[in-house]
Amino acid sequence: MTPLLSARGITVRYGSLAALDGVDLRVDHGQRHALIGPNGAGKTTLLDVVAGATRARAGRVWLAGREVTRRGPAARARRGIGRIHQRPAVWSTLTVSENVQVAALPHVLRPGRWRPGGGRSAARRTADTLLARFGLADLGGSPAGQLAHGQRRQLEIAMALAGRPRLLLLDEPAAGLSATEVGRLVEFLRDLPRAVGVLLVEHRLDLVYALSDTVTVLRDGRTLAAGTPAEIRASAEVRRAYAEGVA
Ligand code: ATP
Repeated sequence: MTPLLSARGITVRYGSLAALDGVDLRVDHGQRHALIGPNGAGKTTLLDVVAGATRARAGRVWLAGREVTRRGPAARARRGIGRIHQRPAVWSTLTVSENVQVAALPHVLRPGRWRPGGGRSAARRTADTLLARFGLADLGGSPAGQLAHGQRRQLEIAMALAGRPRLLLLDEPAAGLSATEVGRLVEFLRDLPRAVGVLLVEHRLDLVYALSDTVTVLRDGRTLAAGTPAEIRASAEVRRAYAEGVA
């Protein structure tokens, strides 16, 4: 079956540093795949390449069988990539609800049937549903800039879902969350529709093992190991890499 995401031979250089050096990655439809590795291993750089935010020096990327190597982030978002950043990216001066509506609009407008104001009520309905799901309904009218970190994280996930992604890229989603918020995040990720693939970068291995079907371990820009959580947990090589340098 055609993979949801396929990346081959990805190489990214910053001066003489190879942030990624010939990395391959495959995520199947509905699969939950984690990228782990010590600090500076290249995890965020690989998410950037998949999202189209960083252009690789070499290598190619396909999304559901269509090559997107030369496509930018907006085109890839239209083709089904949603992203959560290390630091939540929301529009601070818009309200919480408006943030989700803006994210939903391109997806509720029907091509060729645009009219002024069209799609607004559908976007509002999407926002209402998602905000209720994240316990943010009461804050819908507040400026997003007033939210606490954990709430911003939830809002960013709601915004990504408003884009109806086929592949959700999550960069350290648990960072800065309280234990309660992490619990809610885990529940939420488990409840995602099975059709949505996930590529998760996370330092907390308990979360990685709880949430993922498959794991790739990067180190110094190369693939150190790939396999199921049980295989990765049992790998002496991976344990050594972590002992030598994870945050
Ligand atoms: P962490 O777990 O600390 O977030 P990571 O595995 O996500 O690390 P990356 O952020 O992808 O690692 O960085 C990989 C390497 O590339 C690091 O050595 C980093 O310093 C370097 N790097 C990343 N972005 C840039 C940049 N814009 N300019 C120069 N070097 C960069």
